[in-house]
Amino acid sequence: MNLQVEINEEALQDIINIETGLLYPLDGFMRTRDFRSVIEHCTMANREVFTIPVTLDVPKEVYDAEPCQTLELLFGGEAVASIDVEDKYEMTDADIEKVFGTLEDAHPGVRKEHERSPYRVGGKTKLLKRELLDGALKPEETKRIFREKGWKTVVGFQTRNPVHKAHEHIQRLGLEVCDGLFINPITGWKKKGDFTEEAVIAAYEAMIKEFYPSDKVYMAGLKTQMRYAGPREAVFHAIIRRNLGCTHFIIGRDHAGVGGYYGAYDAHALARKLSEEHDLGIELLLTREPYYCTKCKQIVTDNTCGHYETNRVEISGTIIRKYIGDGRIPDEIMMRQEIFDAILKCGKVFIE
Ligand SMILES: [Zn+2]
Repeated sequence: MNLQVEINEEALQDIINIETGLLYPLDGFMRTRDFRSVIEHCTMANREVFTIPVTLDVPKEVYDAEPCQTLELLFGGEAVASIDVEDKYEMTDADIEKVFGTLEDAHPGVRKEHERSPYRVGGKTKLLKRELLDGALKPEETKRIFREKGWKTVVGFQTRNPVHKAHEHIQRLGLEVCDGLFINPITGWKKKGDFTEEAVIAAYEAMIKEFYPSDKVYMAGLKTQMRYAGPREAVFHAIIRRNLGCTHFIIGRDHAGVGGYYGAYDAHALARKLSEEHDLGIELLLTREPYYCTKCKQIVTDNTCGHYETNRVEISGTIIRKYIGDGRIPDEIMMRQEIFDAILKCGKVFIE
């Protein structure tokens, strides 16, 4: 009889994303060789760039069961997928620290990793419950849509916040360079206090309707968990967008960072290093932090304005979250009134 293991929503989402090709070249949860290589070198064993370990944790008694075999994976008691276990390994604190750059449980990604069993199994997965693919973002579909729109170049923009003026600045820059802009908000697990999926989507719908050239912008949500792994996650996000058919991807200041764990441009440094050493198959636009300058009286970056130290008004999702959380209206230099109204109208603004 096959062993059965109950999996959580994130593991199930990984299996769905492997099945659609979103996490190419993965065909299942990472085997030891690939896991070790990703941890140590940010590449699969075959030297292809991959920066985040995608692994399946199992209880110790399953891990100890011999020999390797097919595991039936249950979600809510129902068999939804299976894995042909090829090998197994432990994810240690040293591994966690290499991914996140810290071992502090105050880091949401580290805490989540610590809540999992350290025992991992690797091998090819199979999604049994095929209807779970309905509504999933599929590379074949996004590629077809980009083709139908006649876009030869597409810039991907990853976000977990409603659009504010800083992001708008970068998106317009992307549209100066590429035929189309693919806004791709993360709609999987996010930490408490982050904006809800509804708030993010409502804000972008308003932005596309009221301001952007609608034939040059496409938006679709991406269901995957945020890991807040900063530089490694930034490159991981780029790989996913390459798989979805983007030719360009924007990596901004402190991309996928959280709470000051990473330097503002650490993600740029890793992205630059990996794209110099390997062919990522996607061009990375490494953008500086846009801010409002009270002297230039517009949104600028330190590439285009000499008043970073003296006249800068910072704009970020964190600051906007704080404004709205305190019941204040964000200044128009940070967020457009139309966007703010759309956020409030959607009802549930923050994840509780
Ligand atoms: Zn200035």
